[in-house]
Order: sequence, then structure tokens, then C-alpha cells
Amino acid sequence: MADVIQLLPDSIANQIAAGEVVQRPASVVKELLENSIDAGARNITLIVREGGKSLIQVIDDGIGMSETDARLCFERHATSKIRTADDLFNIRTMGFRGEALASIAAVAEVELKTRRTIDEVGTEVNISASELVSQQPIACQAGTQISIKNLFFNVPARRKFLKSDSVELKHIISEFQRVSLAYPEVAFTLNHNGNDLYKLPPSGLKQRIVGLFGKNINQHLIDISTQTSIVKLGGYIGKPECAKKSAGEQFFFVNGRFMKNPFLHKAIMNAYDRLLPSGAYPSYFIYFDIDPQSIDVNIHPTKTEIKFEDERMIWQILHAAVRESLGKFSVTPSIDFDT
Ligand code: ADP
Ligand code: MG
Repeated sequence: MADVIQLLPDSIANQIAAGEVVQRPASVVKELLENSIDAGARNITLIVREGGKSLIQVIDDGIGMSETDARLCFERHATSKIRTADDLFNIRTMGFRGEALASIAAVAEVELKTRRTIDEVGTEVNISASELVSQQPIACQAGTQISIKNLFFNVPARRKFLKSDSVELKHIISEFQRVSLAYPEVAFTLNHNGNDLYKLPPSGLKQRIVGLFGKNINQHLIDISTQTSIVKLGGYIGKPECAKKSAGEQFFFVNGRFMKNPFLHKAIMNAYDRLLPSGAYPSYFIYFDIDPQSIDVNIHPTKTEIKFEDERMIWQILHAAVRESLGKFSVTPSIDFDT
């Protein structure tokens, strides 16, 4: 009998990997924004059309790519961010898996224009469903512009399961919020179907929160901050009376990365205890700074889950910090003049 096992061609392997990384337009948005952050961009513009179904474009003023890198970045496991297995335990960038662009390019039409400041001409690369369509030198601004068109055009099952433009846009806005909250010092714009939905100047955290959630939230924010030998924690929590019945303004960040964490969410709920009306969620924007060696972000392809070496300790530190901030606030209500 003949052997039956074959190695899959890259285009199929990439499409399979894309199933994990690219669920909907918002997943593309997340990966592209993170790449711009990793590239050191100070200005990032996100342009989407039809909830991201026809176009997702990100324009940044980051370091750009060389001619060779502009092609290589679409290969699987191609990354400039880690080199050795040891690096996996000391991650300081948003990306490191070298999978996002390969996955995205497997399920869409991609146009990349990029130039480093040291290069006189830039490079344009066009890829469709993992196939290189064209590559040529072009004149372009320094930085990177990448356009993802017709997402899932070659995966009809996925395309069919996309929700309405407005639902997909909601998911995109949520990713945009997460990244722009993690980097208030970076300017972000979000444009949908030709309208600017957000235009966020570089700012401090409070101004960024106001830019995203409106002026009203300003007077409802209470400082939170604490530091121990294992973690530094900062940010804002919302006054109990401003808690909302719907979840949506709950954010944890670890070393500049948004994190979902039901366990630590409970620490906060527990600290608010009877201060909250039943069924209400307090707003929070909590930032953890922690030694990258004591966390593992490589649990899930989207990296929104993070494993802490000592999660119970973090729970207690967070719980105590929330209690302390709520206590201070109720004893000495502070008036905040800075809007
Ligand atoms: P990862 O971010 O995990 O390294 P990606 O597939 O997202 O993998 O990107 C591959 C590589 O392409 C990156 O490591 C980086 O070198 C380069 N790259 C991607 N986007 C940009 C960008 N906006 N500016 C500069 N370089 C980029
Ligand atoms: Mg990346």
C-alpha cells in the first residue's frame, strides 16, 4: 500500500491557522493595530468600510519595512519580535507569533505599502489568498499602510456568518477602544464609511477615557494605584452610583495588552460589594505592570488570556486597592476640576 500522508501546501496551512486568529473583521483590526504599536507608531489611522467587510485599512507612521521584509512578513512564523525560545518568557511586544499577517493574507486580498525613513523608495506588495499578485517599488510616506479587502472572499462559510455591518462595527470599536486605551500617548483615528467616529489626540489616560466614552465619565472616575514587589497597578475605577446594568466599560491591561480575566473581575465586584445596585457593573480601567517573566501570554492565539504566576496574590492586591480607593472616595469626596 502506498503512503497516504502529505504535507499541506502553505496556502492551506495558513487558511487553517486563520480559522483561529481571524474570526471576524475586528480580529483583523486588533492584529493590525498591534503591529502598528509594535512598529513604534505615534499616529495610527484605521479606516473601515461596511463593518470591515469590504475594507480594513491601517495607516501608521512606524518604522516601516525593507523590500525583503515587506514580502517576508506574510510568511507563517515570520517575525522580527522573537528569535529564541527564551524570548517567549520575556515578551515586551504585542505580537510574537508571526502568524497574523500570514493568516489574514490567506483569507483576503491584501495591499501593503511600506517605507522605512532610511529608504528613498518604498515597496508595494499585493497578495490574494496567500498568492503573491505583485510586488514593486513605489513612492509612499514613511511607515506602513495596509489594506485588507473582501475578508473571507475565499471562505464562503465564514463570509456568510458575518453579522450586520453595525454589529461588526461594534466589535471593531471594541478592539479600537482596547488598543487606544492601552496607548493614550499615541494618536488614533477611526473612520467608518467616510465618517470620523473617533479622533483621539495623544494624551494622558483620563483624557483618552473621556475621548472614548464622553465628557460625563470624567467626574465619575476615582484614581486607583498601588505598588508591591511583584506588581504595579494604576488606573481608574467608576463611582458605585454610576455603575451600569450592561457590561462594557471594564478593562484590564497587562503590560500594554488588553486582558480578559473573570477571576480578577470578581475581585473588583467583591470589593464593591453592597455599594452596587444588584445587576450593575462598575466601570474600571486597570493597568498592571508586571515582570514579563512572571506571566504567560502564549495561552491562546488572540493573547487576551494571560496566566499569572501568582494569580491569588494579584487578586488580593487588586481587591485591597479597590477597597482603598472606594474608601477614600466615600470619606473625602473629591472635586475634580480637570476636564
Ligand atoms: P508578529 O506581530 O507576531 O511578529 P505579524 O504577522 O503580525 O507577526 O507580523 C509579521 C512581521 O511583520 C512583524 O514581526 C514585523 O516585523 C512586520 N510588520 C507587521 N506590521 C508592521 C507595521 N505596521 N510596521 C512595521 N513592520 C510591521
Ligand atoms: Mg502582529
